[in-house]
Amino acid sequence: MSMVAGNWKMFEGPDPQALRTALGDLEHVVAPPYTRLAACVDAGLTTYAQSVHWEPEGAFTGEISVPMLQALGVHGAIVGHSERRQYFGETDTTVARRARAALDAGLNVIACVGETWEERESNDTETVLRIQVEAIRDACGEHERLVLAYEPVWAIGTGKTATPQTAEASHAFVKSLLDAPVLYGGSVKPENAEELLSQPSVDGALVGGASLDIESFVAICRTAASIRS
Ligand code: PEP
Repeated sequence: MSMVAGNWKMFEGPDPQALRTALGDLEHVVAPPYTRLAACVDAGLTTYAQSVHWEPEGAFTGEISVPMLQALGVHGAIVGHSERRQYFGETDTTVARRARAALDAGLNVIACVGETWEERESNDTETVLRIQVEAIRDACGEHERLVLAYEPVWAIGTGKTATPQTAEASHAFVKSLLDAPVLYGGSVKPENAEELLSQPSVDGALVGGASLDIESFVAICRTAASIRS
């Protein structure tokens, strides 16, 4: 498996129809902001939300539920992105609840884990990954629609990329805790996609910045497809 998912974050992102045309038959996932979900679904893109709540409805201002996403034809959701954890108080418990509810209702899930630079420097990477992955594992178990993303926080949006060896070691560790495909995320670009995606334990990429540009995103999807075949 080699999945490439584009996280558009809080950016409008590219024109969905133009992206669809440029992708052709290439496998892909896009996670646009909520206001663009319908346009992406309508354009025929494989579309995920950037988060999802665990309750079907209720007094949860600012949240969106699984049935609401399914009514739009959305295929899945990212949960636990480090920007949610860092800026919006997302915890291992809430990440696990989001993942569980989405899987139970039939959505696909990309659940994100990853250490900060301070944690890596103090040799706590494995401890942090273990806590994060075990929370997801305890809530969801192994699940055919569950994919993990290893995203070292220090590599997200910074231009710093984990070396292929660092990524491979972390992916292998994550897989030893939960048997699931693991995407790599952190400044993936067309120039570094091949060396990262060809690592044996790297099953794809979660791409932020480079997914906003049609040419770059398509190039990464093409690289993934060529490694897969
Ligand atoms: C992300 O948003 O998940 C991400 C990895 O961002 P970037 O590719 O910009 O580092």
